[in-house]
Amino acid sequence: MSYRIARDLEEALQLLREGRGSARIIAGGTDLFLQDLPEALVDLSGTPETLGICAEEEMLIIGACVTHAEAAASPLLQEGATVLAEACGQVGSPQVRHAGTLGGNVVNAAPAADAAVGLVAMGARAVIVDTADARRQEAVENLYADYNRSRVDSSREILLHFAMRKHGPGEGSAFKRFASRKSLSLPMFSVAAVVRLEQGLLQEVRLVAAPVKPAPTRLPQVEQRLQGLPASGDTWRLAGELVREAVTVRGSTLRCTAEYRRHLAGVLAERALQEAARRAAGLKAGESK
Ligand SMILES: Cc1cc2nc3c(=O)[nH]c(=O)nc-3n(C[C@H](O)[C@H](O)[C@H](O)COP(=O)(O)OP(=O)(O)OC[C@H]3O[C@@H](n4cnc5c(N)ncnc54)[C@H](O)[C@@H]3O)c2cc1C
Repeated sequence: MSYRIARDLEEALQLLREGRGSARIIAGGTDLFLQDLPEALVDLSGTPETLGICAEEEMLIIGACVTHAEAAASPLLQEGATVLAEACGQVGSPQVRHAGTLGGNVVNAAPAADAAVGLVAMGARAVIVDTADARRQEAVENLYADYNRSRVDSSREILLHFAMRKHGPGEGSAFKRFASRKSLSLPMFSVAAVVRLEQGLLQEVRLVAAPVKPAPTRLPQVEQRLQGLPASGDTWRLAGELVREAVTVRGSTLRCTAEYRRHLAGVLAERALQEAARRAAGLKAGESK
C-alpha cells in the first residue's frame, strides 16, 4: 500500500487521477483505518484549501479537514453555529476529536454522526470537486446514498468545505445527545435545534433527529406545528410529543430498544428546543426571564 501526503488540492486531485479508482482520500483516518484499506491513500489533512474556519459577511465557511476539536473551540462557531460547535465537542474522546475531521464525519455517512447532525441543522451545503475539476454544491443531507454509504466517491471526489448562514439576531441553537457513556460511545439518539425568536414567539424552527433514516433527518411537520407558538414549557412538552410521534426508530442490540429511543427523541427535543430558545433570547444556562 502507498501513502502519499498531498501538499495542496491540485496534488491531491493528481494523485487520485493517477490512482484510477484504486486510491482514496484519507483525512484523520479515525474511520478509514477501521475498514478495508485501498491500494493507495492520499492524505488530504494538510492541504490549505481544506483547512480553517472563516466568516464572510453573514456566511461561515468551514474547511473539510477542520477537526472536531478545532470546531468545538472556535469562537466563530460557538457564536454563529452553536449547535455545530456543541456537536463536535461531544465526538468520541479528545484523541478522536483532535484527529477526526468534519469532512470525514460526513463522507463516512454514519446516520447519527455528531458533526453531520449539527451541519444539517445549520442548513450547511458542501462544496465538492472531482478529478475532472468540476465543482458541485449539495445540501449535506443529500450526500447520503444509504446507511453508511456516501454519494461522495472519495476515489475521485474531494469535499472541500462547508458553507452555512451564521446565526443572526434572535437566533439560537443547541445539540443534545444521549449515550451509554459520556465519551467514546456513539449516541443512542441525538437532536439538534435552531430557532429564531421574535417577541417571545417561535418565528422559525429547524429540528434534526438521528438515527432515524440514513441521513440526519429534519422534522418539517413538527417544525411547522411549532411556528408562532410562545417559547414556553407547554410548547416544549408539545414538541416532545410531536417528535415522539414523528420519528421512525429501530431498536439495536448494541444500544437500546426502539421504545427507549422514541422516549429519548421526545426528551432530547424538549431540551434542545428549550436551550436553543434560551440562547436566542440572550440568556445563559439557568437564567430565565
Ligand atoms: C473510538 C472512536 C470513537 C468515535 N466516536 C464518535 C462519536 O462519538 N461521534 C461521531 O460522530 N463519530 C465518532 N467516531 C467516528 C469518527 O471519528 C468521525 O466520523 C470522524 O469525523 C471521521 O473523520 P476522519 O477525518 O477521521 O475521516 P477518515 O477516517 O480519514 O475518512 C472517513 C471517510 O471519509 C473519506 N473522506 C475523508 N475526508 C474526505 C474529504 N475531504 N473528501 C472526500 N472524502 C473524504 C475517506 O475516504 C473515508 O471514506 C469515532 C471513531 C472512533 C475510532
